[in-house]
Amino acid sequence: MARRTDAARNGRKSQEEQAVICSKKCRARCCNYVTIQIQPPNSERDWDEIRWWLIHEGIHVVKDDDGWMAIVHSRCEYLDRNNHCLAYKHRPSTCRNYDAENCEYTGPVPFKVCLTDEQDLEHYLRQRSLQRGRAIARRIRAARRQLPAQGSGERRHPLLLEASRR
Ligand code: SF4
Ligand code: SF4
Repeated sequence: MARRTDAARNGRKSQEEQAVICSKKCRARCCNYVTIQIQPPNSERDWDEIRWWLIHEGIHVVKDDDGWMAIVHSRCEYLDRNNHCLAYKHRPSTCRNYDAENCEYTGPVPFKVCLTDEQDLEHYLRQRSLQRGRAIARRIRAARRQLPAQGSGERRHPLLLEASRR
């Protein structure tokens, strides 16, 4: 009989089990973006700045218990084609301190707000009738009318898609 590892005794997954979940099931979501804390939007200027983040491809804006942040999609250079970390033993503390037992894949989606583009923002502001966001919502609607018709390309991060379906 194989010896039980410390991880199993603690009810936690072994390193090997976790590696399979991360690389095969989750496909290493948390190694494919970085986050930047942003100012909580309290003024027209703040909403305008959130719009500015959102009109850039590969950027989403979310809010969780720690506040508002921009998610910048960017794959870590240590991630190989099979979604394995090539620097596991020497990975940065930010990766080390991330709790894989309660992460965005294994735990509940932590976002209270997920904005993937400026149309999401316009919808969000309109739904909440936010006084300080009205001018921004109007500006977005006016700007969108200037755009040529586009196909419905999917820009959403898998995590955000999952959140929007809940
Ligand atoms: S989000 Fe969770 S399951 Fe996915 S790679 Fe990161 S730690 Fe692993
Ligand atoms: S160093 Fe490894 S664990 Fe950290 S983000 Fe890169 S691939 Fe992921």
